Amino acid sequence: MTQNKSHGRLSIAASLKPRELMQNNPRLAHTWTAQIITLFPNAFPGVLGESLTGKALQDRKWALETIDLRPFGDGKHKNVDDTPSGGGAGMVLRADVLGQAIEHAAANAPQGRPIVYLSPRGTPFTQAKAREWSKGSGVILLCGRFEGVDQRVLDHYNIEEVSLGDFVLTGGEIAAQAMIDATVRLLPDVLGNAASMDEESHSNGLLEHPQYTRPAIWNSLEIPEVLQSGHHGKIENWRREQSHALTKSRRPDLWDAYTSKIKK
Ligand code: SAH
Repeated sequence: MTQNKSHGRLSIAASLKPRELMQNNPRLAHTWTAQIITLFPNAFPGVLGESLTGKALQDRKWALETIDLRPFGDGKHKNVDDTPSGGGAGMVLRADVLGQAIEHAAANAPQGRPIVYLSPRGTPFTQAKAREWSKGSGVILLCGRFEGVDQRVLDHYNIEEVSLGDFVLTGGEIAAQAMIDATVRLLPDVLGNAASMDEESHSNGLLEHPQYTRPAIWNSLEIPEVLQSGHHGKIENWRREQSHALTKSRRPDLWDAYTSKIKK
């Protein structure tokens, strides 16, 4: 890693230090990398440091970089926000501060890495988006706080807005972790049993069939007989029927999309 003298370098070093998984992960040119611009770098890797995603991070199958927004702040107090133009409640993250952090992140990224603002106004995140991101070099994720970010930053850098769902979070960090998790598990060799991915909810436009495991009887409730029959054809049929029935009743929108796709 080449060291430059911008204050961004300090922010990365400082935010990497306490967290081993990230510290032992120097920037690797061909590794899928999530770059996260945030006021709360200590929130990372968070849950991404656990289990399969954590192991994969340790094994350098993907990398995580936080870019602390604070050192890019204005003046002695490193202000990052100001009151909304036109009045109203709350604070807005400043364009000049965000601009510097974005430039810093982009300078360390290969051409074409998407820059995304986590936002309740954005396009809802989907499995298709996770798949798309998993095929690229990584993502630059901008986490908002307070009332959000100055619109000019979104316009100037042509930033895509992506939402975790139709609700409002306090900041973008949880949304960033959810989206990174969904993306990283699609990278080669991150999930142990890659075959399980094809049948999962949303991978084929359907919800997954119910799952069971031992004990065979629990609270007088039995595992469906067919699953204990050892008859693979029958098991497959049962699972398909269950998956169709669940999708139809819970998510008529997905069912409509699925049936119109197979009619074509
Ligand atoms: N005033 C904004 C909400 C700000 S919430 C509005 O009404 O649109 C503060 C920050 O949390 C946002 O800047 C965004 O980065 C993050 N956030 C909130 N809800 C989110 C969601 N559903 N998906 C992704 N990010 C979200």
